[in-house]
Amino acid sequence: MTTPLAEKIKALIHAHGPISITDYFALCLADPEHGYYRTRDPFGRGGDFVTAPEVSQLFGEMLGVFVVQAWQKHLKPRRNLRIAEIGPGRGTMMADMLRTIARLAPELYAEATVHLVETSPTLRAIQQRTLAEHDGKVAWHETFDDIPAGFLLLVANEFFDAVPIRQFVKTSSGFRERLVGLDGDEQLCFGAGTAGVDPALLPPGHRDAPAGAIAEVAPARSAIMQAIADRLFNSGGTALFIDYGHTRSGFGDTLQAVLKHAFDPPLAHPGEADLTSHVDFAALAEVARARSVHVNGMMTQGRFLLELGIAARAGALGAGKDETTQAGIRAAVERLVGDRPGEMGELFKVLAVSSPEVELPPFDK
Ligand code: SAH
Repeated sequence: MTTPLAEKIKALIHAHGPISITDYFALCLADPEHGYYRTRDPFGRGGDFVTAPEVSQLFGEMLGVFVVQAWQKHLKPRRNLRIAEIGPGRGTMMADMLRTIARLAPELYAEATVHLVETSPTLRAIQQRTLAEHDGKVAWHETFDDIPAGFLLLVANEFFDAVPIRQFVKTSSGFRERLVGLDGDEQLCFGAGTAGVDPALLPPGHRDAPAGAIAEVAPARSAIMQAIADRLFNSGGTALFIDYGHTRSGFGDTLQAVLKHAFDPPLAHPGEADLTSHVDFAALAEVARARSVHVNGMMTQGRFLLELGIAARAGALGAGKDETTQAGIRAAVERLVGDRPGEMGELFKVLAVSSPEVELPPFDK
């Protein structure tokens, strides 16, 4: 089985030679004609995967609670207030956040404008419908830099994992850029470049890494983090990032494709499977620190939601409802906070940064 994008990539490789992982990743997600996010709504049961905001409204509500607390800790600025999200999917999380913000902090809701950074026209249209009741308050932008100046309260869930990475593979002659080329049967396959790699790009310990070891770096993620950190430093605010990832840098291939709720080989269905890689939160935190922005901390999603009070909120949501509804709410909470290996509450990590430095519960304890 092939895909239209696979054919396009094969033609590209025929004409110009193997392509980098970054280029493959970017084509898979963002090719204007066949890119995964350009052409479809991937979320939910009929799609390829389910994200936390689609599991339960409680997820966005807890982020709303966090944002309200952050605004209070920053001493409730009132002018040029921006509530922003990068990669908002269906707009579900922002809808749940705004409902909570309007209830807990009507002044914040009234004074703020809402800014969504989204590159997919398909998803923008869905977000417009989801957020219709906030008409006039919400603006869409192509990139983070287009968000108007002002105090920033930023959230992003499963955004960084969709930003392309570079990979390097250790060969007998040292680390080389990992590439996508063609095998003898004209099928896409992994390979390695011939040019040497600047050691400054490689993680610590690369000299002792065994043959075949894979190192991942994400300059595109760092560049976005740097822009966010600079904005926070200049205009103040807090940013919260949630993603599939690790809190310590290391070696390993985390490129991962998902099609119809199952793992798929990353080269098998370009454009038709979602493609991600784990987020190196330590590297993102380092970028923030280097731009003089305070890193409040990192923790698992499960701990984050529990400490913000998801259990109590779930109880309130279920109060007076029938047994089936209550069981549904309990199952959703369990899915979001479960911390056994492989469960969302443990796989997903949360990173918070702020400037000027403020204490942000449940971090900084
Ligand atoms: N946060 C949502 C969606 C996660 S999927 C949720 O949790 O359900 C990734 C999202 O990031 C999609 O909305 C996708 O279109 C968007 N996206 C991917 N690359 C992007 C980029 N470079 N700039 C802005 N949005 C991007």
